[in-house]
Amino acid sequence: MADGVYRDRIIQLFSRKGSLMLRPMICMILMTVVSHALAQSDQQPRSLDGSNGRDLLLRLYRPQSMLKVPRHVLKQAKFPVVDVHTHFRRFNGRPDRVDEFVGQMDQHNVAVCTSLDGYVGDQLEEHRKLLWTKHRDRFVIFARVPWRGDGSRDDPATWDCHRPDFGHRVTLALTDAKRQGASGLKISKALGLYLRNPDGSLIKIDDPRWDPIWKACGDLGMPVLIHISDPAAFFHPVDARNERWNELRSHPSWSFHGDDFPDREELLAARNRVIRRHPTTTFIGAHVANDPENLGRVAEWFAEFPNFHAEIGARISDLGRQPYTARRWMIENADRILFGTDGPMSPAQLSIHWRFLETLDEYFPYGNSAFPSQGYWNIYGLGLPDDVLRKIYHENAARIIPGVAERLERFKNRK
Ligand SMILES: [Zn+2]
Repeated sequence: MADGVYRDRIIQLFSRKGSLMLRPMICMILMTVVSHALAQSDQQPRSLDGSNGRDLLLRLYRPQSMLKVPRHVLKQAKFPVVDVHTHFRRFNGRPDRVDEFVGQMDQHNVAVCTSLDGYVGDQLEEHRKLLWTKHRDRFVIFARVPWRGDGSRDDPATWDCHRPDFGHRVTLALTDAKRQGASGLKISKALGLYLRNPDGSLIKIDDPRWDPIWKACGDLGMPVLIHISDPAAFFHPVDARNERWNELRSHPSWSFHGDDFPDREELLAARNRVIRRHPTTTFIGAHVANDPENLGRVAEWFAEFPNFHAEIGARISDLGRQPYTARRWMIENADRILFGTDGPMSPAQLSIHWRFLETLDEYFPYGNSAFPSQGYWNIYGLGLPDDVLRKIYHENAARIIPGVAERLERFKNRK
C-alpha cells in the first residue's frame, strides 16, 4: 500500500511542472522509494535471521551448545596408527609438503600412511619419487586401474577398457606395479557412477571383463580398497527432508538422485557379487564399506565374506552420531575394521579422530569448524578398549596390507 501511495504522490508532483518549491520534496520522496525498494531486494534473506520472531535460514543456524561436559584434546593417538586411506597426489611437485606432513605424523603417532594415488606406469614412478625419495618407511602405495588408457576423457569408445584383453593388460601392469613396490589396488566410485560403455550405459561393476583384475589382485597378494556408491542421502531428492541438504547444496554434482543414476542398492549388490566371486582376493570397503548408515548390514557382509574388511575414512560423522551401535559394531568386528581418514588431514582434524575413538566425550563437532559439511549434527566418542584400538589403529592393516608390518616395526623400534 505504501508503495502505491508514493507512486501516486510522485505522479501528482511531476504533473505540477515548474514549481521550484516542490523539487526538494520530490527528491526526498524518490530517495525514500528507491531505498525502500533496495531494502526489499537486498535485505530479504538477511532479515531471516531468527531474531525478534523472524524465521531463520538454515545456513544461518548456528546454535551454541550450552552443555558443560568433559572435553579432551588428544595431541596424539594412544597407539601407533596406520592411516589406510590418504591421497598424496595433491602434493605432486611439493616434496616439502611431504616433509612437513611426516613431521605431523611423528607428532600424532601416525606410523604409516597408505597413499591411494599410485596409479601405474610413469605415474607410479612419479609417486614413488614423491613419497619414497626420503620417506620410504612411512608410506605404502596403492595402484589404480588405467580404465581410459590414452583415450579421450569424454569418449568411452576410445578407452582402453573397451579393447580386447584389457583385463590381461591390467594384470601385467599390476604385476609390474607390485614389482615396483605397490601394496594394493584402489578402485574409485567412478566405477558404477561415471565410467561408461561406448553405447552410453554405465560400466557394470561386476562385468566379467574385470574378473582377471580381481583375480590378479588375489594372486599378487594386493588388497583392493574399493569405493562403490556414496552416502545414502546422495541418492535421495535434495529437498527439506535430505539429511545432507547443506552439503548437496554446496556440491550439486554429488547428488546421484534421479533416472541418470543407478540404484544405490544395486551398486552395492554388484560390488558384493565381485567379492563373492573372488574369495581369495582381499577387499577393503572404503568409507565403512560405503554403508555407514546401516552398520548391522555391514556386519552381515563381514559374516558372509571372510575376505571383506572396511575402513572408516571420512565417516566419523556417521559413526559418531550412533555411538552405542558404532561402539558395539567396532568391538564385535574389531578384526575387520581399519583406520582411515581420506586425508592428508590437518593436526586439528587428526585430534578429532583420536578423541572420537579413544574418549567418551559427548556432543562435539566431527570437523574443524563448529558446523562441518556432512550434516548438521555433532558426534560422541566411542571410548574403545585398548585391544580394539590396537587392531583398528594398526594390527589389521599390518596383517592385510603388504609392506605395512615391517614399516610399523621400524617405527616402534625407533622410539
Ligand atoms: Zn579417498
